[in-house]
Amino acid sequence: MSLNIRAFERVKSAENAADKPSRTEVEAAVRTMIRWAGEDPDRDGLRETPGRVTRAFEEFFSGYAEDPAEILKKTFEEIEGYDEMIVLRGIPFESHCEHHLAPIIGKAWVAYIPTGRVVGISKLARLVETYARRLQIQEKMTAQIANTINDVLNPQGVGVIIKAVHHCMTTRGVHKPGTDLVTSRMLGCFRDNALTRQEFLHMAE
Ligand SMILES: [Zn+2]
Repeated sequence: MSLNIRAFERVKSAENAADKPSRTEVEAAVRTMIRWAGEDPDRDGLRETPGRVTRAFEEFFSGYAEDPAEILKKTFEEIEGYDEMIVLRGIPFESHCEHHLAPIIGKAWVAYIPTGRVVGISKLARLVETYARRLQIQEKMTAQIANTINDVLNPQGVGVIIKAVHHCMTTRGVHKPGTDLVTSRMLGCFRDNALTRQEFLHMAE
């Protein structure tokens, strides 16, 4: 993603913040959905549900309040010329599909080959989490993670693989439990060098 697109996204999210609905409005919307499901939102067990759902949404979608590029800003340069692959394997995440608001539960493998500077490994996990805590489609999330690392760290290459179960197709719709979706995005030497790509794919098996 280019810096221009990121600046544009920031402007867009600032605009969205201006007409952000109040907590009361969101709770009322949840009440409506409970009534639409055929329930009485005023019965004891459901009275506090709109508040709980609203707080859950706050957590599920907290990624909009974070700037992914900022997470990778602090880097370390004293790495004795280290220029091999760095891989954080099997980072668990929970996200929500933008078509059904259904959970996407999966793991991400994030790799890069640095050019002179590295980030703290926990930052790679936070980057995955930030994009996961937004409305997503897996293909876009995979590209966003790879593009951000590529733009901010300017490494020799980046590889991202995501494997995830989509509840919108396991618990509804075509009802195919046991399926998972695998996506990948390879940039730089991960795209151009077959050996590098192979080494990474092997680590994610
Ligand atoms: Zn869906």
